[in-house]
Amino acid sequence: MSVRWKNSTLAGWGRFAATHARVARPERQSELDRVLSDTSASLIARGAGKAYGDAAQNGAANVANMQRLDRLLAFDAATGVLECEAGVTFRTLLDAFVPKGFVPPVSPGTAFATVGGALAADVHGKNHDRHGSFGDHVLWFDLLCADGQTRRVSPDSHSDLFAATIGGMGLTGIVRRLAFRLLPGTGHVRVETQRIADLDAFFAAFEAARANATFSVGWIDALARGAKLGRGVFETAEFAPAASVAPVAKTLPIPLDLPPFALSRLSVGAFNEFYWRRAPAQKRASSRPLDAFFYPLDRLADWNRLYGKRGFFQFQSVVPDATAFAATRKMLEAVSAAGTASFLAVLKTLGGPGRGLLSFPLRGVTLALDVPNAPGATALMAELERLALEAGGRIYLAKDALQAPASLRAGYPHLAAFEETLLRWDPQRRFASDLSRRLRIGEATP
Ligand SMILES: Cc1cc2nc3c(=O)[nH]c(=O)nc-3n(C[C@H](O)[C@H](O)[C@H](O)COP(=O)(O)OP(=O)(O)OC[C@H]3O[C@@H](n4cnc5c(N)ncnc54)[C@H](O)[C@@H]3O)c2cc1C
Repeated sequence: MSVRWKNSTLAGWGRFAATHARVARPERQSELDRVLSDTSASLIARGAGKAYGDAAQNGAANVANMQRLDRLLAFDAATGVLECEAGVTFRTLLDAFVPKGFVPPVSPGTAFATVGGALAADVHGKNHDRHGSFGDHVLWFDLLCADGQTRRVSPDSHSDLFAATIGGMGLTGIVRRLAFRLLPGTGHVRVETQRIADLDAFFAAFEAARANATFSVGWIDALARGAKLGRGVFETAEFAPAASVAPVAKTLPIPLDLPPFALSRLSVGAFNEFYWRRAPAQKRASSRPLDAFFYPLDRLADWNRLYGKRGFFQFQSVVPDATAFAATRKMLEAVSAAGTASFLAVLKTLGGPGRGLLSFPLRGVTLALDVPNAPGATALMAELERLALEAGGRIYLAKDALQAPASLRAGYPHLAAFEETLLRWDPQRRFASDLSRRLRIGEATP
């Protein structure tokens, strides 16, 4: 049977810089082989399209949408090891395994992401200090390589491909199936919430939490200035014994693209103020369904439409501990001075490097915030990038849409090793994306 290709316009979650491609949506693994052999143009895998930038699109070439390859294959309750296809989502994992007393070891901030996308971005959650990133829990995966062969890849077998594929943004091939370890957990968490007055207090709260909390996250009012700079809400959480089924949080649809003026500094400032004042001044504990804690934004379906048709950028950097405080202060000053209508920024600590050559984490502090695509936005993004790099940090590829190739090289010291691996396994560059072309990945290799 021949492959069915469909012409589509694809963008990332930020809805910026969409491009046209031919998209195949295989239903079976055998079809996936034909997707690669059917074309001589380049190909990239796409999961749920939740990367904010251009990682899962491939203008004027081909894309393999993996969402229908979403079967759970085997589970061993004695070890927690799950084998599944790459299109399985975090929503499916919660629905299927919370009743059995298991949870995903690491979860990004949306349940719609696929585990293939989680492996390719080596995603982190609110528990990085305790449990690392997604790739830390992967035992093996089956990779469709550029020569059309599928190889079982693990730390012991094709270890170079293992290190290049974890965090490698789909550029080594297509992950068809994978095995990773789920962790024991429940469908509820006991959350401790506390209002935080400024950035000093935030860093002190994180330092205390790092040693003993399973989950921690900070929500910063990115518009606050002066003495209030860095104020926000801090949460830590532990699994709690409660109902065994994780309830599906209700979603509220965003019916239309909002006009550009709808999100002004004034309206977002009012929201941020409300959110801050609502939090208790003293630490208070409450119970929350796991999905409400992991995926608060999923309750607002298509919330990316809030930013209108021009879309938005998400800036996310990680900066080493030693420079994190000063750099975070400078970044927040830059955001509040730019007057951009930025909702709450997210601050988290990361515990150490991942297993991938392009894994994002390092031991330090990560700041993530939305910047609407309005006049001045790209200048602000460039300034934030400069501040992160100056502090010895790096920009997260799963969020990136604008970073300069030189910043990638400066931030990712193993990029040359990654490019050597690509040259070995994919000399014709069968796998490519808008991101790999924008960042000139592979071009520095002789
Ligand atoms: C609301 C929201 C919150 C988020 N929170 C977090 C967070 O807390 N932590 C975090 O780390 N990330 C976070 N992200 C980013 C998101 O988790 C990553 O971008 C993830 O990669 C998305 O998975 P996906 O299935 O949508 O993949 P896509 O966005 O479709 O693709 C992402 C990358 O994975 C590659 N890929 C996908 N499937 C495969 C496959 N089968 N084989 C090989 N490569 C593949 C693609 O080529 C692409 O390079 C968030 C995103 C959103 C929208």
